Amino acid sequence: MRLDELKENLANVETRVSAACDRAKRDRSEVTLIAVSKTKPIEDLKVIYDAGIRQFGENKVQELTGKIPEMPDDIDWHLIGHLQRNKVKYIIDKVKLIHSVDSYRLAEEINIQAKKKGVVANILIEVNAANEATKFGVKLEEAKQLCHEISHLDAVHVMGLMTIAPNVVVPEENRPIFHKIKELSVDIANENIDNVDMRIISMGMTNDFEIAIEEGATHVRVGTAIFGERNYSI
Ligand SMILES: *Cc1c(COP(=O)(O)O)cnc(C)c1O
Repeated sequence: MRLDELKENLANVETRVSAACDRAKRDRSEVTLIAVSKTKPIEDLKVIYDAGIRQFGENKVQELTGKIPEMPDDIDWHLIGHLQRNKVKYIIDKVKLIHSVDSYRLAEEINIQAKKKGVVANILIEVNAANEATKFGVKLEEAKQLCHEISHLDAVHVMGLMTIAPNVVVPEENRPIFHKIKELSVDIANENIDNVDMRIISMGMTNDFEIAIEEGATHVRVGTAIFGERNYSI
């Protein structure tokens, strides 16, 4: 019963992703669906894996490193939550993409740890597009400068931007935010900064992923709509 429910949720999300792509005249292959599995048990992740998903997102280092060995190794793991510098070493060679880089100091530590492991770390710059006091991320107007600075770190590759839009009742309200991030992405791409490209825009969650796709998201991070509500009290 519960397992069927998860599969049905995923199928619904898939349908909605495809419909949003159609509306935006984008090919479905331009949008990657990341299943955000934070707080959820391995059994649930396995159902979604068996249904074909290979992109999973987690927001905590400890939970992520606990889950990785429990799951098949053809998964691309995405670290989507705030990352402390002292934890970079635990995930550096285990994740496909770090979505949440918002300071040069963090990028520097990622560079050091990536070199130690002989890898190049793929990262996104997290932008606090609505300037919310409670959110991490750089201001819109700071993102370009940070890209220039990070471009000198040779074991770090900036692949685009990430944003967490405000938690609004009417998702349409976030459209201008997503639009601004897309514009910023084009603006930074036009600078042709060495070692920086803007092929990824990670934006859109359960509440607003369709609007984000319409405004140019390449990666949507969907948790609740796939796995159900999270229970933080257990
Ligand atoms: C939890 C989380 C998501 C998924 O949120 P839902 O509303 O459950 O889809 C996406 N991005 C980040 C950074 C998150 O922490």
